Amino acid sequence: MRIDVVTIFPDYLAPLDLSLVGKAREAGVLDLRVHDLRDWATDRHRTVDDTPYGGGAGMVMKPDVWGAALDDVVGSGDPARAPRLLVPAPSGRPFTQALAHELAAEPWLVFACGRYEGIDARLVEDAATRMPVTEVSLGDYVLNGGEVAALVIVEAVARLLPGVVGNPESLVEESHGADGLLEYPVYTKPPTWRGLDVPEILLSGHHGNVARWRRDQALRRTAERRPDLVARLDPSALDARDRAV
Ligand code: SAM
Repeated sequence: MRIDVVTIFPDYLAPLDLSLVGKAREAGVLDLRVHDLRDWATDRHRTVDDTPYGGGAGMVMKPDVWGAALDDVVGSGDPARAPRLLVPAPSGRPFTQALAHELAAEPWLVFACGRYEGIDARLVEDAATRMPVTEVSLGDYVLNGGEVAALVIVEAVARLLPGVVGNPESLVEESHGADGLLEYPVYTKPPTWRGLDVPEILLSGHHGNVARWRRDQALRRTAERRPDLVARLDPSALDARDRAV
């Protein structure tokens, strides 16, 4: 998969050299390219923003600089296949595991990281005539820029690419997976720590009982912490014991 990130702070993306994403880059599973938006500014101050039409506080990122940057980045790829453009925005589509799976199936993503009051609205309108565009929100709060959103999305997407997570089983039983539940609590050695014991059943070696205990815990945890997720469960995927929990 190829991912391009356009930003005025390329150094913000440095953590993508680390850990599993860094290894995926080394292995060639992920071709990640970070670009400095200011390289497309045309004045000697490398200006990328201007005052908002209509007045008000803050600055708005200029569409001409962004347009030139995206034209070049998109033009550097296969002309027969446009990328999917992702524009982080607090007003965008909420980022979820389902969207991460959707993005992991794309061959090429381009991130346009806004700053200040955001990017001139015509940028998205213009780009949408040539490629699929999704404005994506990390959540109902406001960050200073789109870089952190790009970091989060790249990490969530990259770990779904084949070969990135060592044991693909890890991707099956986790929160926000196919069963729609949060993950059960996990434990490791020692069996007793600061007077707290690992639940007896996990030491029993009885796989069926362990699986049932884990499912009960996942159902309980989801009901307690995220009743909104319980409301979305497929009733036909719940057995009588699930309903009793
Ligand atoms: N004035 C904008 C608004 O109220 O919608 C917020 C601008 S914010 C200070 C600057 C940039 O940070 C945005 O253009 C976007 O790229 C990014 N950003 C802020 N919050 C975000 C969020 N919750 N999800 C994704 N990106 C966000």
